[in-house]
Amino acid sequence: MEELLRRSEKLTTVGQLAAGVAHEIRNPLTTLRGFLQLQQQNQVLNMKHNDIMMSELDRINLIVSEFLILAKPQAVHFQKKDVRYIVSDVISLLDSQAHLLGIVFNLQVTDEPALVYAEENQLKQVFINLLKNSMEAMSKGGIITIHLFLEGESVKIFIRDQGTGIPAEMLSKLGEPFFTNKETGTGLGLMVSQRIIQSHKGTLDIESTEGEGTTALVQLPIAKPE
Ligand code: ADP
Ligand code: MG
Repeated sequence: MEELLRRSEKLTTVGQLAAGVAHEIRNPLTTLRGFLQLQQQNQVLNMKHNDIMMSELDRINLIVSEFLILAKPQAVHFQKKDVRYIVSDVISLLDSQAHLLGIVFNLQVTDEPALVYAEENQLKQVFINLLKNSMEAMSKGGIITIHLFLEGESVKIFIRDQGTGIPAEMLSKLGEPFFTNKETGTGLGLMVSQRIIQSHKGTLDIESTEGEGTTALVQLPIAKPE
């Protein structure tokens, strides 16, 4: 975790991030331009070219929308929310997709209210990002356990999967923007999640054993009663 924090602090300069985004968007743009140029030379583009153009456009769109989550200060509105409902909403959202992949969510939550000051949509985005990473690592299906409980001053949410796990040498790169091992990944999910959790004064820890699975731990401060 300290690692993840330190690295994201290193990246606080908006300029560095913007440069990264620009770089990532320029690649698909170059491809798109190349195809249009072919067409201009009256070369016939086939369905395969079309598919590539479409997926390059999708990629740009995905990068921009993930990035936008960070760039919306006016939308940030912290309210006292029960994280139990935020988590169960996200699980309902992903449930049908999980079912198709042979993945089952095992949700264990406390009976006590788990109130935190939250920007609900942002926090939802965090759990979507973490659960999606787990799902994407579980091509053979399996169980994702979500365990939410109160401990001391914090709400703790463990998300444990039975996926591929993360090789030790890759663990140190987590949270770096654009670090991905997926063909259609953006490598922005964890960085964005980390930023959101930081703005909630919480922490994100990721532990993983290659071949066994990954556990993400989100800790958020419990909202004090007025
Ligand atoms: P993306 O999902 O677009 O690749 P993320 O920032 O969400 O970007 O994740 C970065 C990388 O971290 C992933 O590409 C993957 O290699 C690794 N990773 C994250 N979570 C998991 C997980 N639960 N299981 C295995 N690998 C993971
Ligand atoms: Mg992801």
